[in-house]
Amino acid sequence: MSLYLIEVIVKSPIQIADLVIGNVFKQTKCLYIQSNTIKGSILSKFYIEYNINDVIEESNNPSINFHPLYPMLNGYTSRSAHLLLHQCKLCNVKIESDKDTNIFVNDVLINKELLSKFRFEDFHIPSKCPNGHLFAITPVKGLVIFKDKIYKKIDIDFVQLESIGITRGIGRVEVGMLYSYIGVKPGVKYLGLVYDHYDKIKDWFGGTPKNGVYRIGRGISRGMGLIEVKFNMLDYKDYIDKRSRDIEDAILKTNGIVILRALSPILKMNGSEFSYKIDLDNIGLKPMNIHEDLNYLSASSEILKGYSVYTNLPKLSIKGLGAGTLYFYKVMDGIDIELLSKNLAELEVKGFAEPYNVGLNIMEVYTDVKYLL
Ligand SMILES: [Zn+2]
Repeated sequence: MSLYLIEVIVKSPIQIADLVIGNVFKQTKCLYIQSNTIKGSILSKFYIEYNINDVIEESNNPSINFHPLYPMLNGYTSRSAHLLLHQCKLCNVKIESDKDTNIFVNDVLINKELLSKFRFEDFHIPSKCPNGHLFAITPVKGLVIFKDKIYKKIDIDFVQLESIGITRGIGRVEVGMLYSYIGVKPGVKYLGLVYDHYDKIKDWFGGTPKNGVYRIGRGISRGMGLIEVKFNMLDYKDYIDKRSRDIEDAILKTNGIVILRALSPILKMNGSEFSYKIDLDNIGLKPMNIHEDLNYLSASSEILKGYSVYTNLPKLSIKGLGAGTLYFYKVMDGIDIELLSKNLAELEVKGFAEPYNVGLNIMEVYTDVKYLL
């Protein structure tokens, strides 16, 4: 098994997950790059330019797990905000120093006692921010980075582009074909993991693929969607060891509560059954129900389209819980925490539930609590 860290740098504006308003205006609303988008981009170049025919086999029977890619800021990788982060509209006014932020964390993530008996029914959105502003609290949307125990919102740079349609037949500008696009600006960097269970990529290239320019998203014929992809092969065992230690520290800090944060949409598919229930009994975790009989807290849902890889049905639309969803578990009695932490680190790279390797059910242990509690 092999593990890569891939770094993507936007070279020409990229357009991903369009929101179409009317016929004309298109906006990129997805702030991270979904797994299937980057997987499609990389594998099509492998197939078309490097003539790797085994790519077909990988599409039919996927075993390479591409994680979603999140934008970076000053060396920190962002994550989707979750429901236990709040923001004060009035503190927002001016952020001058590195320590300034208008995001604050719900008491549940700061106080072990409150965390251990957390129920959503008892949950109150604070009426006052830490600076005393009353009734100015809103949920945090979008992406945040966590640095020095502080959450900050990050905004990725977008660019607006005008484009004039050319009629192919006569090579002339056609009336009414003026488009306006919003795309992610060149220079934005993204980071994510790729887990390759059977070392397929290594076999195809006799090592790590060279860094190169790939095409992603819409508008490729208009020169958009160029990205540079850098592949860094990680030492799998080292990575798992290091991550296990982080996870173990977090579990000791929470007194046996494990919080998972979704990086991709969450949807378990078992035959024709869909569910959001992620069962981790086999590694020694029981669900900690926080709302009725549910153990997750979700701020959004995401529509997933075209999972032909799995179902062979074109344009199937299904709804998954969005990135930023939090799952809560308790460690069962008598479980070896070191082994549990290692199992969790491995599930982080492989995915937490079937279907595997199609860009669903990728989560990570919310180790931020190590610094918050
Ligand atoms: Zn405030």
